[in-house]
Amino acid sequence: MISGKRILIVGGGIGGMAAAIRLGELGGKVTLIDIDPEWRVYGAGITITGPTLRAYRRLGLLDAIKEEGAIAKGSTIFRYDGLRLQQLDEPALEEGLPATGGIMRPKLHRIMQARVKALDTDIRLGLSVSALENRDDGVNVTFTDGTQERFDLVVGADSIYSAVRRMAFPHMAEAQPTGQGCWRVSMKRPPTLESGEIYLGHRYPAGINRCAQDMVYLWMLTPHEHREAHFTDEELFTRLQDNMADFGGNIAWVRENMTRNDWINYRPLAAALQPGPWHMGHIVLLGDAVHATTPHMASGAGMAVESALVLAEELDRADTVEDGLVAYEARRYERCRHVVETSIAVGKMQLAGDPPESIGAALGAGLHRLADDY
Ligand SMILES: Cc1cc2nc3c(=O)[nH]c(=O)nc-3n(C[C@H](O)[C@H](O)[C@H](O)COP(=O)(O)OP(=O)(O)OC[C@H]3O[C@@H](n4cnc5c(N)ncnc54)[C@H](O)[C@@H]3O)c2cc1C
Repeated sequence: MISGKRILIVGGGIGGMAAAIRLGELGGKVTLIDIDPEWRVYGAGITITGPTLRAYRRLGLLDAIKEEGAIAKGSTIFRYDGLRLQQLDEPALEEGLPATGGIMRPKLHRIMQARVKALDTDIRLGLSVSALENRDDGVNVTFTDGTQERFDLVVGADSIYSAVRRMAFPHMAEAQPTGQGCWRVSMKRPPTLESGEIYLGHRYPAGINRCAQDMVYLWMLTPHEHREAHFTDEELFTRLQDNMADFGGNIAWVRENMTRNDWINYRPLAAALQPGPWHMGHIVLLGDAVHATTPHMASGAGMAVESALVLAEELDRADTVEDGLVAYEARRYERCRHVVETSIAVGKMQLAGDPPESIGAALGAGLHRLADDY
């Protein structure tokens, strides 16, 4: 049913690009717009779990990710002072699929962008939508440059503060803060670090993951007590170093070896699983626009790619756009709910100071449920 359909995707991030790739492969005439004139992404690393790797394998990009990123057999949980506690119970999924991995976000974007471009997608940058009008057989779209066009389907993949959602889905609400903020630094690899490390038992849970041969990123979650979310570069550096003061193991190595030239970021966390319906007429949402989660299960990107694959599959086998969109939501809702609710629950356990064993068990159980196919 997709072949020849005119499809507008708003947002060229992970979910939007995944949708552009699969809908384009199925013969859709895809236009992809992004508000950023340079179509960039910030310089963080990203964890790619087993289920996310499975989704990327189905998107045909697993080999490129393995080549440009780093893959691992699993992650180890340490006490904050560096004492090894246990292996994180991560599920093995499919033959030939690594348990987990990581990649620098700019590299992941370049891999996905190359595939989107190879499909002759109509890419328009520095552009958004200013009005969407559902008609019986499509959507009249007004772009922010004043031009108007008719599409058979509009996909809102414009992330947590989605403009498409605000415009066309009055029954949905803004994502809510979860009470934690996430610090990240991307830097050279500690010499003894081979696979992922998670440090628990401190009020600031943290971890390090490889995202290239010689690169890692460190994440640390702190209670978001302060009103400000923006720090100067110097404040980012010194506050993150201070946060790591009590830590041993490779976190101590990071503290001693991070430099002011490394990419450092702080972001307060928010999440929301939006109530259905996830489509209104011929406008549908995917990714953080409709299932925004926190990084606790490192699964937000995976959910966005899976949602894109399912959307394309269900549209392709449906007789009408409406049927395809209903089937898409039916297949995605419970799985996304699991990720959003488990992630929020783990964050609450961390804020309450629950023991590392309980947090590790909740994470392991959450990841195991994602091993089931979608
Ligand atoms: C701190 C942090 C760490 C994370 N770590 C991980 C991790 O390790 N592993 C993981 O799987 N997930 C992680 N996530 C989640 C993951 O980043 C998101 O779930 C994923 O990027 C969602 O994809 P998306 O396509 O919905 O949105 P995005 O990837 O954010 O892309 C949205 C795109 O839409 C564009 N856009 C925005 N507004 C408009 C507009 N009005 N018009 C047009 N274009 C617009 C943006 O420029 C952007 O290109 C993390 C999230 C956070 C906050």
